[in-house]
Amino acid sequence: MLKKIWLSPPHMGGNEEAYVKEAFETNWIAPLGPNVQQFEKSIEDFVGNNAHAACLSSGTGAIHLGLELLGVSKGDEVICQSFTFSASANPITYLGASPIFVDSEEDTWNISPILLEEAIKDRMAHGKKPKAIVAVHLYGMPYKVDEVHAIARNYDIPVIEDSAEALGSSYRGFNCGSFGDIGVLSFNGNKIITTSGGGALLCKDQTTKEKAVFLATQARDNAPHYQHSHIGYNYRMSNVLAGIGRGQMEVLKDRVAARRHNFQYYKEHLSTLPDITFINEPEGSYSNRWLTCILTPSFEVRENLRTALDKKNIESRPLWKPMHLQPVFEKNVSFVNGISEDLFERGLCLPSGSSLEIDDLDRICGIIKNELK
Ligand SMILES: *Cc1c(COP(=O)(O)O)cnc(C)c1O
Repeated sequence: MLKKIWLSPPHMGGNEEAYVKEAFETNWIAPLGPNVQQFEKSIEDFVGNNAHAACLSSGTGAIHLGLELLGVSKGDEVICQSFTFSASANPITYLGASPIFVDSEEDTWNISPILLEEAIKDRMAHGKKPKAIVAVHLYGMPYKVDEVHAIARNYDIPVIEDSAEALGSSYRGFNCGSFGDIGVLSFNGNKIITTSGGGALLCKDQTTKEKAVFLATQARDNAPHYQHSHIGYNYRMSNVLAGIGRGQMEVLKDRVAARRHNFQYYKEHLSTLPDITFINEPEGSYSNRWLTCILTPSFEVRENLRTALDKKNIESRPLWKPMHLQPVFEKNVSFVNGISEDLFERGLCLPSGSSLEIDDLDRICGIIKNELK
């Protein structure tokens, strides 16, 4: 059997176990403790731009709490990028609100500023001003930050910046995660760094961070007994897992460099094929290249490549299926232009782990070249 090549496996740096061991030795086996505090500090130092971080049990939980902090509630509408993973949209429904889906533009594959404004105007004409906007830096490529935030400011609508795939990416020198009223990171097993499972909510001030932590730890009022004036959640990160996060933050820069190297390698070896194209970084954008994506001429070619790789024990994956095409969201209002649907049909994510070796990359490129011959 040929060696399995995964799409995006975990890649430990070396110090993670020491921090986990520290948690055991000090008996901080709880959803709080020194590892959580240190992990939060290292995230804040890395992201910069005055970001405050609250570590949570998942990125999905961070989006849920973020929406709640922005006042989203039953009957509200929230605009959401359609071309994304379902976790960007699901939490909107947890609060009894409805996602309104907006399609992508070609330069970054993220939310189209033109359609976004059209959607806001349309919903306002229906007497439903959107309560928030969920914009996503998909595959690590920053969305059109200036345009999207100018529109949001103009209509006074807060933005949740879903940066789950974009830790280490930046736009005009500022790090992704620091642009939204609320930013979201994920440390799931396949992300650029991982705590096996976990996430973080980023915000602009300490008060909002404290509110997030309050809601994430069962919303307990300040009293000697257990008293509650709010509905709370159990969303805080475990101090054991935060130990993994501390170790991973020490190698984040290397992980970004390795993923960007994967992209360069694929581009160099595959863009000579007339049938394969890549997405470039627009001026001012720096992508962590979480996953390298290629576009093929058709659904058939995409599937041929995917199955040819699969036969050789190599995992690849179609691009995200847009939310407006998902059975669970098919009745939702959406503003579409065909772009995300086309990307889904023709696009494939190639193995992109930071631990890939040149031999692996070479093997993958060889199979693709052979298939397209
Ligand atoms: C992974 C991911 C999430 C969810 O993060 P989890 O930590 O897995 O809950 C949200 N949005 C996007 C775009 C993601 O890729």
